[in-house]
Amino acid sequence: MPSPREDCLFCRLVADGDHVAAADGFVAIRDINPLAETHLLVLPERHVDTFRDIDAFPDEEAGRMLRFVSEAAEQAGLENYRVLVNVGAGAGQTVLHLHWHILGGRPDAGRIASALAAEGAA
Ligand code: AMP
Ligand code: ZN
Repeated sequence: MPSPREDCLFCRLVADGDHVAAADGFVAIRDINPLAETHLLVLPERHVDTFRDIDAFPDEEAGRMLRFVSEAAEQAGLENYRVLVNVGAGAGQTVLHLHWHILGGRPDAGRIASALAAEGAA
């Protein structure tokens, strides 16, 4: 596993954040600014800037990452939810460390709409 980036917020949170779920190479945390009743972020330990860099993951690790997204949602008690990855600043990505949003429960539709509008994506 490559070394964490010292200047990366999510590398730091993988190392010592408040994890609601964890598996080998992956953690889930609560989003600090939730856009739904339950808003988790799945962070891989491996630092890659964006989903565009998915090729940096060995196939086995990429497969386990997807399974962990599903497990983290299940452990949070979610049956119905959305999984979202913002890829690039133009699509709303603000933290350059690949992460998967899990949005479940009552969505805060107004806030999601205004967040998208602020990003120029609406
Ligand atoms: P994105 O806009 O797709 O890059 O998502 C980044 C997410 O990280 C946003 O939803 C933020 O609310 C969230 N975030 C930023 N800082 C923190 C933090 N310290 N702990 C948890 N979530 C954070
Ligand atoms: Zn990182």
